[in-house]
Amino acid sequence: APAAPIYPTENPTISKQLMDEMKAENIMNNLKTLTSRPHIAGREQEEIVLVDWIKQQWTEAGIDSIVVHPYDVLLSYPKQNDSNYVSIKLANGTEIEQSQRKELVIDAEQNDQNVVDPFNAYSPPGEPEAELVYVNYATIGNFNALNRTYNISTAGKICISRYGRIFRGDKAINAELNGCIGLILYSDPLDYTVPWSGVYPEDWFLPPTGAQRGTLWVDNGDPRTPNYPSIRDAWHQSNSSLTLPKIPVTPIGYIDAIKYLSKMGGPEVPKYWRGGMNITYRFGPGFAEEHVNSLMKMSVKTTNQVATIHNVIGYVRGAVEPDRYVLLGNHRDAWVFGAIDPSSGTATLMELVRGFGAMLKRGWRPRRTLVFCSWGAEEYGLIGSTEWVEELQKQLQARAVAYLNVDMAVRGNFSFSANGVASLSQAVFDAAKTVPNPNPSEISSGRPTVYDTWKSIYPAADKPLFYGLGAGSDYAAFLQVIGIPSVDMRYTYDQSIGINTYPVYHSVYDTFELVSKFVDPGFKIHLAMAQVWGELARKLADVPILPFDCRLYAIDLIKKRYLLRLSYRSKMESNGINLSQLDDAIATFFNAANNIHERIASIDLTNAYETRMINDQLMQLERAFIDQNPLPGRVAYRHVTSAPSQHNRYGSTAFPAVVDAMFDIDVDPDQAGRWDEVRRQYSILVFHILSAAATLNPTV
Ligand code: GLU
Ligand code: CA
Ligand code: ZN
Ligand code: ZN
Repeated sequence: APAAPIYPTENPTISKQLMDEMKAENIMNNLKTLTSRPHIAGREQEEIVLVDWIKQQWTEAGIDSIVVHPYDVLLSYPKQNDSNYVSIKLANGTEIEQSQRKELVIDAEQNDQNVVDPFNAYSPPGEPEAELVYVNYATIGNFNALNRTYNISTAGKICISRYGRIFRGDKAINAELNGCIGLILYSDPLDYTVPWSGVYPEDWFLPPTGAQRGTLWVDNGDPRTPNYPSIRDAWHQSNSSLTLPKIPVTPIGYIDAIKYLSKMGGPEVPKYWRGGMNITYRFGPGFAEEHVNSLMKMSVKTTNQVATIHNVIGYVRGAVEPDRYVLLGNHRDAWVFGAIDPSSGTATLMELVRGFGAMLKRGWRPRRTLVFCSWGAEEYGLIGSTEWVEELQKQLQARAVAYLNVDMAVRGNFSFSANGVASLSQAVFDAAKTVPNPNPSEISSGRPTVYDTWKSIYPAADKPLFYGLGAGSDYAAFLQVIGIPSVDMRYTYDQSIGINTYPVYHSVYDTFELVSKFVDPGFKIHLAMAQVWGELARKLADVPILPFDCRLYAIDLIKKRYLLRLSYRSKMESNGINLSQLDDAIATFFNAANNIHERIASIDLTNAYETRMINDQLMQLERAFIDQNPLPGRVAYRHVTSAPSQHNRYGSTAFPAVVDAMFDIDVDPDQAGRWDEVRRQYSILVFHILSAAATLNPTV
């Protein structure tokens, strides 16, 4: 008779016990503590007070160990008591229409002397004066239209762009490449309010005075230590050699933007460039009528400063495979109070740790090790998570099963949604199916679980939509640099109302008050997030065979191939590239995927070696897509099937090296050289798919 299993299969009651253990009220209290003061990276409240609080809470929860990792990194702040503004400078030198340096205090909560006024991190200081040009969202397409269609040059001008569509750091790059000498970013009411409802404090939409802070850094981690950790005494690049923005950039609210945009001269912009203010949007350059001789002026005092940031890492040791890690992460730092971004996630993570701690006290232990990560300085460019991945990369490459990220756990109360690697999508669906729908009206409409609403709102065939990852939060280093399968989850708002991110994003109004009044009054949505996150982690940590589905990975490669063919097939084929090589490689991968799942179906779970062998193959699949060299033009990204988009850090590009090589290829004067590069990247891609297939194959 076969020996008893080395470890019993999962115990179904564990899942329910964990869910029942966690309480909405605890999450609410956590959020209150986390948001009582501003907690920007590098300052006392964030690096000392909250780090200590988390250590103390996790110790009380009874998890096995807690390690704090400090890093000395380059951050950036506006000047205290002389914060940034913009204005109109008259020909006689007088400045008028100065923008507010601070967002208005709407309720007492925001009246805190530690609020850091609106700024964009890593902008250089400067006081440019020039004609103003409106550049819409400052995308490459917008600048091309200005230059090629409308014959308006932005060289030597100050540009004003609305927030939205792409990562703000890419807007700064585009402005710089197009010769702008300053960039003003503003939130247009079209993108952050709705016509049928009021703004904060009446509803959760952005008030006129709200301004969006945010980083301009377009790579990951401490700008001074690419690819290596900023541990004590580490070598770092000198500040003068860093690739940070070269033109001053600062954000304003629409209370001020309207003053400048309404006075502009030049032709009217096309319809889709218009925002939501009751003015005529014009390109410029410069102002009209009595202000024709006036210039736009910026006063930016933002400077870089080295500071120490901290990650807090907590461990629950696995009973059977302690050297296999399931990681859960969330950043702790906020631009101001950060009730949604990121403290909704931190408040949830804290309750999850307490929940797992309670399970330990009852004698339970997961099969694999759980690792809870509270990251520092995410807002500046994923700094804490990236430095940690750089420091522990050998260990993580060998041991990490998956990384589960939650940044803004609750940025709306409409539906759960998630992105990530395709092989984990089914595991996320299954976790969402186990959690009761936190919206009673959804239950009465026949959608009893979190999954049901997700699927009905974001349908893709018979499943919910599940896209790939770019950058934008702390999964980037895990997935794109060292190939740890990653997922990013949140509850979100109804995207059909056309707003860009949640309205008070990175403003002083992202407060406990706003969350408890408008977003999640009973904290039931937060609880549902804790339950999905917890169940997914528990499952990855506990089931004997890892819940990865390689067939879904194969299907995802087919989708990526479809996108590539859609954009570039005829061009590539007419340049002699044989796309059937890619088809054949994917077919080989599909066979290998089917094959490993057949082996799993008949596995002998009593055989610890066989179980471990299959799990290792599943775990290593994602690593097989990591190239030994960074992708062309990227500092650290090495994943050949997924990277942040070259021109929008928030976006995800499939087959990035090939797609980047094809971008705007027609205008490259070196046609032969460029096509050779496309062929080289195509061949590297095909090689990696075959090589990944081989990792799934039986040993002989
Ligand atoms: N989440 C931060 C932001 O949106 C940082 C994003 C990033 O560096 O990718 O500004
Ligand atoms: Ca580094
Ligand atoms: Zn965040
Ligand atoms: Zn943020």
